[in-house]
Parts: sequence; structure tokens; C-alpha cells
Amino acid sequence: RQIKNLLDVSTEEKRNFLNSFDYVLTDCDGVIWTIVKPIEGAGEGVSALHENGKRVIFISNNSVRSHEKYVEKFKEGNINASIDDVLHPSLATICYLRKINFKGLIYCIGSSEFKKKLQEAGYEYIDGPNEQIEDFVTLWKAVKDDNPVKAVIIDTDFNVSSAKLIRAEIYLKNPECLFIAGTTDMMLPITKGFKIIGVGPYYKILEEASGRRAVVVGKPGDALKDIVIDKYNIKDPKRVLFIGDTLEQDIGFGTKCGFKTLLVMTGSATKMDLLTHPKKQELPDYYLEAFGDFTKVFDD
Ligand code: PLP
Ligand code: CA
Repeated sequence: RQIKNLLDVSTEEKRNFLNSFDYVLTDCDGVIWTIVKPIEGAGEGVSALHENGKRVIFISNNSVRSHEKYVEKFKEGNINASIDDVLHPSLATICYLRKINFKGLIYCIGSSEFKKKLQEAGYEYIDGPNEQIEDFVTLWKAVKDDNPVKAVIIDTDFNVSSAKLIRAEIYLKNPECLFIAGTTDMMLPITKGFKIIGVGPYYKILEEASGRRAVVVGKPGDALKDIVIDKYNIKDPKRVLFIGDTLEQDIGFGTKCGFKTLLVMTGSATKMDLLTHPKKQELPDYYLEAFGDFTKVFDD
């Protein structure tokens, strides 16, 4: 199947598609902005969707950025959105913990911002070790004293270490200890063609060491579907469009949820990927060169 540019299809096909959804869930990095600046036209694209009666919600895998920084970035790109319109792994984790009525101590491998959000939501956490560890006995002694930890959470932590992973592994030996992963991206795209190591390799090590599967609350995790649907009171998943720049995290997640999907070409995925990607469920219904093209699709 050839994936078409939404701008190139017939007026009727375009109208049918645009009338088929009320909610637009969109990825941020690579779609709305890059790490350094807004993507041209994205703000106008969001406004065009709003003017045509669509509810726009932002779903990012980045919990490292504070709420204040999100708001700053929206302003910088003339994007009409507030922080209530954003869902990312720390908020998704909190939604999940509330849903299962979680009580108890958390061990968190994550950014300061992630841990701050947990604390503000009323959850108690421990982290570290943050000092140099030279032998396993020291680590073991520390861990032994602060059991019982009731949940291990892993998200982006640029200070992740072998000591932190071993500590998490020890807690996870208790089958009653919850295991939650936020973002699970193997690589973090920084700019086109430049990627760095993401959380993926670390959460995979923990899964392998513990013989357990994490509840994944970031894209493309199964647990995120219900979290999104509950939080935004979505009645019919078929009337949702998911927009992203990556095939696995964004389009794969959209398909898994029964949403319509659209890829933009301003981030990770390339035209070649559209032709060669082996997994059908990670291919979008349509693509657009950029989010800003939404200013044109309604004109026809
Ligand atoms: N996590 C971190 C720490 C990032 O820096 C980024 C992108 O810059 C992401 C995740 C991916 O974010 P998104 O899901 O908005 O593409
Ligand atoms: Ca992205």
C-alpha cells in the first residue's frame, strides 16, 4: 500500500478523513518543535485544527522538561495550548498509580523533574545511590535497610548507573513490587540523523534481570491507552487522530489504540521508511510534510 500525502487526495477523500475524528492527539518533539526551536507553521496548524472544531492534545515521551518549560515552548511557537493539554510519562505514571490506588514507597530512576512531579502528587520516593559505589556489599547494605519498596519506576535519567540498576533489580525480586517504565525509546532523536542512547536499553536490562515485564506508560505502551482515554474522556477511539514523527512510538501506538494515524516528515521517519518499514501496523493512514500543512487541508 502506498501511503499518500493528505494534501494530494481527492476533495471527497480529504473531507471524509477530516470528518472522521474529533480529537487530535499529537506528539511534540519532531512535530511541533525540535529540541532547539519551534517547527515553522506548527502554531498555525494547531489553530487550523481548533478553528475546525478539533480538540488538540499533546502526548510526549519527555518528562524531563518542566511544566513551565512546556508553556514557554508553546508561547515561543505561537501554539494555543495550556499545560492541561499535555500528557507525558510522569503525569501518565501518576494517573496509573491513582487508578490502581497505589500506596507505598517508590524507588525511582528518573530526572529531578519526574521525581518532583511524583512528590507533588503525594508519592514518597527514594533514589540513588548518588555517590561513588566501589563494591556490591555497600550497595546491598543500603538496599537491605530501606525495603520494602512497593514500586520501581524507570524513566529518563542521564545519571543512570549500574548501581541504580542493580538496586532496582533487587527490589524487583519481590513479586509484589510494581514495575513501571515511562519512556522506553531505545534512542532519543536530538536532530535529524543524530540520536543518543534513550531509556530503552536500561529498562530492557531490568526486564531481563528480573524476568518481569514493565507496565509501560509512555508511547507505545499498552497502559497509556486507557490513561489517555480516561483522562480526556474519549468516548470513541475511532474518532481520534494520532499524529507523530516516529513509526514505532507514535504510529504504532495510534494503531494499537484503534486511532486514525498521520505521520509528519519533520522528525525521525523518512520517505524511505514509508516504503520499506516491515511492520504494517506502524504505517500511517496518511502523511503530511509538516504539521503546518493543516492550514491547507481544510481549504479544499
Ligand atoms: N525524552 C526526552 C528526554 C527527550 O529529550 C525527547 C525529545 O527531545 C523525547 C523523550 C521524545 O519526545 P516526544 O515524544 O515529544 O517526541
Ligand atoms: Ca517525536
